[in-house]
This record gives sequence, structure tokens and C-alpha cells, in this order.
Amino acid sequence: MARDGDTCIWCGRVLGGLVPPTTEHVVPRLKGGPSWLANEVAACRRCNAERGHRAPVDWLEECERRGWRPDAERLARALDALQLAIDHEGGQRRARPYLDAQRRRLHRRLPPGPDGRTVAS
Ligand SMILES: [Zn+2]
Repeated sequence: MARDGDTCIWCGRVLGGLVPPTTEHVVPRLKGGPSWLANEVAACRRCNAERGHRAPVDWLEECERRGWRPDAERLARALDALQLAIDHEGGQRRARPYLDAQRRRLHRRLPPGPDGRTVAS
């Protein structure tokens, strides 16, 4: 939460009190995601439970359909940071193609920045 702020990445609600905070894996463990801090984001318990094993970009789009305000830029930063961590640490052969595909999908969604590149690149 110190890194990401005190809101749920998926629904934007402030964590604490009536909105219990949890950490969840950006790349699910089931898909080979490592149990590293770089693979964790702060989310409320409801979103964590409802997302299940869904891919992060699938769940982000489901949150939008529900009229929530998921933080796509925070997700992009989290996926980029996880990519850097994997590049640095090595291994994670199962997570790599999954992470690549998620990052491509998310970068296509983000609006171009002032220099014409995507915000998260
Ligand atoms: Zn939430």
C-alpha cells in the first residue's frame, strides 16, 4: 500500500475499515506467477475474491463494465515492474508468455501520451 496508495486497484475504494485490504497476485499463481512483492497489488477482499483466476486485463474490463474505476495505469506499472523483476531474477518460464500477452493488451488500451507513445511505455 505504501507503494501503490491506499485504494483498491480494481474498484478504487479506499482500503481499511469496512473495505478490508488484501494483496493479490497480478499474474495468478495458477498461471505460474511468482510469489514476489513485484507480483502483488493491493485490492479489496471483494474484488480479490470475485476476480478469482481471471487474467488481470479481463478483470479490469469486467470492472469497467460494472461501472467501477479500475486503475489501468497502476496495473500497467505493476506489470512493467514484474517484467523487470523477471528479467532480473530469471526463470518464471510459465509466467513470461502470459505476462507478455497481458502487457500487450493493456498497452493497446492506454491512450497515447503527448509524445505519441502510450502512457505506460
Ligand atoms: Zn475493490
